[in-house]
Amino acid sequence: MWKVFWNIELLDEHAEGDAFMKMDLRSDTVTKPTETMLRAMAEAEVGDDVYREDPTVNRLEQLAAERLGKEAALFVTSGTQGNQVAVLTHCVNGDEVIAEAESHIFYYEGGAMSALAGVQTRTLAGERGALRPEDVEKAIRGNNIHFPRTKLICLENTHNRAGGAVVTVEQMKGVYDVAQKHGIPVHLDGARLFNAAVAQGVDVCELSQYTDTVQVCLSKGLSAPVGSILAGDRAFIEEARWWRKKLGGGLRQAGYLAAPGIIALTEMVERLREDHERAQQLAAGFRKLSLTVEPVETNIVLVRTDSIQETAVDFLQRLADRGVLAVDFDEYVIRFTTHRHIDEQSVAKVLEVVEKLLGAAKCSG
Ligand SMILES: *Cc1c(COP(=O)(O)O)cnc(C)c1O
Repeated sequence: MWKVFWNIELLDEHAEGDAFMKMDLRSDTVTKPTETMLRAMAEAEVGDDVYREDPTVNRLEQLAAERLGKEAALFVTSGTQGNQVAVLTHCVNGDEVIAEAESHIFYYEGGAMSALAGVQTRTLAGERGALRPEDVEKAIRGNNIHFPRTKLICLENTHNRAGGAVVTVEQMKGVYDVAQKHGIPVHLDGARLFNAAVAQGVDVCELSQYTDTVQVCLSKGLSAPVGSILAGDRAFIEEARWWRKKLGGGLRQAGYLAAPGIIALTEMVERLREDHERAQQLAAGFRKLSLTVEPVETNIVLVRTDSIQETAVDFLQRLADRGVLAVDFDEYVIRFTTHRHIDEQSVAKVLEVVEKLLGAAKCSG
C-alpha cells in the first residue's frame, strides 16, 4: 500500500541517480530521504500538532531532547527558524547578541535577528570559527546607562564558513564558563553538530552540555527531507513553541515530516564518518593537483582559486558545464560539501574533471 501511495521505488531511484549524475556538492542539504525514511513517512501515525496531538512529532521531540541531553525539544521547519525562534525567545528588542563574525545566524539569515527580534549583533572574529572566552568576556556589556544589555551568546559547531571546522569540547566549555559567570545564556547553532561529535569521537551531549539551547538540522547530512530541532529546558521550549506559532511554523499533521527525522537521529549519525572520509579524499586529490585547500575536519572542503588566477564564480561555471556543482564562498574560495550521494567513485570523477580543467587553463594561459 505505502509503495503504491508514495511510488517509493521510483522516488528512490530518482534520488540516488539524479544526485550522482550531477555530482552535486553544493551542500549536504541536497540529500534525499532514504527508502526507510519514505516508508516511515507513509506509515506515520499523525494528528494535529498545534493541539500537540501528533504522536510522531511528540516522539521525535522526546527522542531529540534525550539525544541532546535537554529537558525538551521543538520540531521546527528549518535551521533558520530554529535559530531565530531561539533569539526571539532569549531576547527583547534592543538587546545585544554576541556572535562569531562569519556565523550563519549573522551572515546567512537575511538580517533576521535585527528584523524579527530587534536585537543588535556584536560580532567577534573567531579562531577557525571558535570564539575565544577572553574575547567574549571583554565584549559582555557592563552595567552602564549608555549600554544595551548582552542577553545572548551564539556559537556555531561545526562552523560553516570556517570550512566545517570543529569547535572542541574544551572551547565550548571555555565560553560557557564565562557565560555562566555573567548569567548570560548560550545558544548553539549546531546545524552540523552531529558532524562535530562524530569527528571528535564524542557523544553529542559532551558538546551540547555547554549550551542552554541548541539547534540541530535533520535535513543536512542526516538526510531527512525537512526540519530542525530546537532543544532547551522545558520553560524555554514552551515559550519557543509560542514564537514558532507566531512565525507561522505551527504545522498540523507534521508527523509525516517528523517520521524521517526519527530515522535521521537513530540511523544516520554514524554514517557521517563516511562523508568525512570522502572530504579527506577530495582534499588530498585537490592538493595533489597543487590547489590550496583549507584544513578539512568534517564534510566541507574549501578550495582557493587565486593560485590558478581564476575567480570562484568562473571556475564554478566551468565545473558546472562538466556536471560538477559546488558553491562560491568568497571571490577566490569554493566550497565542496560531501554527503550520502557522493561516494568514492563520485570523488574520483570530481577530481578527474578538476584535473582536466586545470590542464585546459594551463594550455590557454
Ligand atoms: C544550514 C545552516 C543553517 C540553516 O539551516 P536551514 O535549514 O537551511 O535554514 C544554520 N546554521 C548553519 C551553520 C547552517 O549550516
